[in-house]
Amino acid sequence: RLSRVEKAETTCSYCAVGCRFELYGKDGEVIGVRPADPDSTPANDFSTCVKGKFGYDFVDADDRLESPLVRREDAPDGAVGREAFREATWEEAIERVYEGLSEIREEHGPEALSVVSSSKTTNEENFLNQKFARQVLGTPHVDNCARLCHSSTVAGLKQTVGYGAMTNRINEDVGETDCYLITGSNTTESHPVLATRIKQNVREGAELIVFDPREVGVAEHADQYVRTTPGEDVAWINGMIRYIVENDLHDEEFVEERTKHFDELVEKVEPFTPEKVEELTAVPAEELKRAAETIATADTCIFGWAMGLTQHTTGTRNVLAIANLALVTGNLGKPRAGLSPFRGQNNVQGGGGDMGPAPHNLPGYQNLGDEDVLEKFEDEWGVRPPGDVGLRLPEQFHAIDDGELCGMFIMGENPVLSEPDIDNVEKAMRKIDFLAVQDIFLTETAEYADVILPAASAAEKSGTFTNTERRIQRVRPAVDPPGEAKADRKILEQLARRFGYDWDYDGPAEVMEEINSLVPIYGGVTYERLEANTKGIQWPCFDEDDPGTPYLYEDEFNFDDGKARFVPADYAKPPDMPDEEYPLTLSSGRVLYHWHTGTMTRRVETLMNHVPESFVTVHPEMADQLGIENEEYVRVQSRQGEIVVRANVEDTSDPGLVYIPMHFPQGAINELTQHELDPTSYIPQYKVTSVRITPL
Ligand code: SF4
Repeated sequence: RLSRVEKAETTCSYCAVGCRFELYGKDGEVIGVRPADPDSTPANDFSTCVKGKFGYDFVDADDRLESPLVRREDAPDGAVGREAFREATWEEAIERVYEGLSEIREEHGPEALSVVSSSKTTNEENFLNQKFARQVLGTPHVDNCARLCHSSTVAGLKQTVGYGAMTNRINEDVGETDCYLITGSNTTESHPVLATRIKQNVREGAELIVFDPREVGVAEHADQYVRTTPGEDVAWINGMIRYIVENDLHDEEFVEERTKHFDELVEKVEPFTPEKVEELTAVPAEELKRAAETIATADTCIFGWAMGLTQHTTGTRNVLAIANLALVTGNLGKPRAGLSPFRGQNNVQGGGGDMGPAPHNLPGYQNLGDEDVLEKFEDEWGVRPPGDVGLRLPEQFHAIDDGELCGMFIMGENPVLSEPDIDNVEKAMRKIDFLAVQDIFLTETAEYADVILPAASAAEKSGTFTNTERRIQRVRPAVDPPGEAKADRKILEQLARRFGYDWDYDGPAEVMEEINSLVPIYGGVTYERLEANTKGIQWPCFDEDDPGTPYLYEDEFNFDDGKARFVPADYAKPPDMPDEEYPLTLSSGRVLYHWHTGTMTRRVETLMNHVPESFVTVHPEMADQLGIENEEYVRVQSRQGEIVVRANVEDTSDPGLVYIPMHFPQGAINELTQHELDPTSYIPQYKVTSVRITPL
């Protein structure tokens, strides 16, 4: 282990704002974080948030995985936990993974195997993981955590503007706009540095409109906060479009010159009068008109959203609707305007999207059905990637139950907590013939594995992350991995070699060279350029002379004819509406001090001191009605299951709405959620679950 103090200029491994900072390490421990030189960093030229500053104690946590583990020969069937495993050498562990996956492939074919990838890991590692699935195993079933957070964003934006990504920059556009419509985003807690940027701009005069079922932190700074009904977003967005067009407030020239299918849009939004919207969604007609007028008359507007908009059975339609609103008001293709999905995980744009660990497209969103693309990959890899669309992540657990999927290789993900309807996932994990998990901790998912491979954290390895504004930035090590843990990239290489493939990359820069040759939007993203330019490069960047693209669609949208498409969005109610038996609506999200399934933040004392356990928010009126005291443990039951959590009595929503964060295994919200998917993106319906609450 390094015994002197090491300094690494690197990128935060929590949220996708992608703050840059100096990470200091000594003796395997991260000993300090300091924001990078303001001139060298695009997102956080003033500070980091609490997770960036104090959230790295997990790196030397006592229970880091330091050697490979294999299931003990004498472990009882279905045993979980550390006792079910024994330490193994790397040779034995790799051999076991090879044998486990090979036997299934020989008996049932490659389609009986699946690979799961993770945005926590680098671009290069995600690229190699999907290559492992497609070249080495020959399976089309490869997916990743983006399925659960913004797959509907990608699906909606691809249909309307062409690229499934944020169109603009954090500082120069989001930080400088004249107006915001933020919806379904608890920005203050989920993207704190970005929220600070927005608040600064609002203080300087920008208009902030927040539409959200909960009065989230960012709403405190809003000129207009409007409470919405969860899952009913298409109605109010269509209503705004209708009002803007009816009152000739739309950007006629932009619509005429740069878009198609406007008439279809006008026809679709016709029923959504302000009064009809009020009837459907409880958004007051006058509030709808006021917001529509503010947005349409502002010179520039940013439309910001997160999982409150995306995690619905109508997730793709919600995104289509908001893209239609941005187009109708001409807020694309210019600075200080645009569509801004606030992506969640550090590298979900790059690792979860751009690198193609997805069952429906190849890296760079290239079409599986395109013969030229398949040939290009075949020429490079010597193997033709499967051309069929594979199973999406939530479908994979049902396929295990059905006996179609028998082996799984999971890198860095924790579906036993993150998937909806946990009982079903645990049942699948118990049933599967072979499971290998590669991670930094013995996660709730790894407990079910046959083999666990110990990986390096982001503080211990080299590579790149791509943040929410499409900016590719360097990741560098400040400490060595503990024990025998290795970077995911190195483990994947070792595995591929055992399968007979000549994977021997001389570091992540060489993997990026392969990405350059196969992924046009990363064509000019080289390590040499990233070393020379600390601000990173925003894709698309087609060749080494291309400076990258700060904001998209200045001249044309990403379609052959260069025009954006209005794709009208149909309104529908969520599938699980409250009734007499389950009268409350449950929603989910994050808190400032934790991150996703909490595998990292739950190991950081400073963060745990603030939020040590799960909770359910209950409105004071509802608490009175149910006889619940603040901080009392209560039972929350849905049609799927039940949990016990502490009640936080607070007035942030309608009495009929309750909220549970997603970060904890005890009181896990996904014991309650259902397996209902958006038919286009297959994102689960996390945000509307009917529940009842009773005192214990
Ligand atoms: Fe890290 Fe996001 Fe916080 Fe920045 S805002 S320090 S990227 S968690």
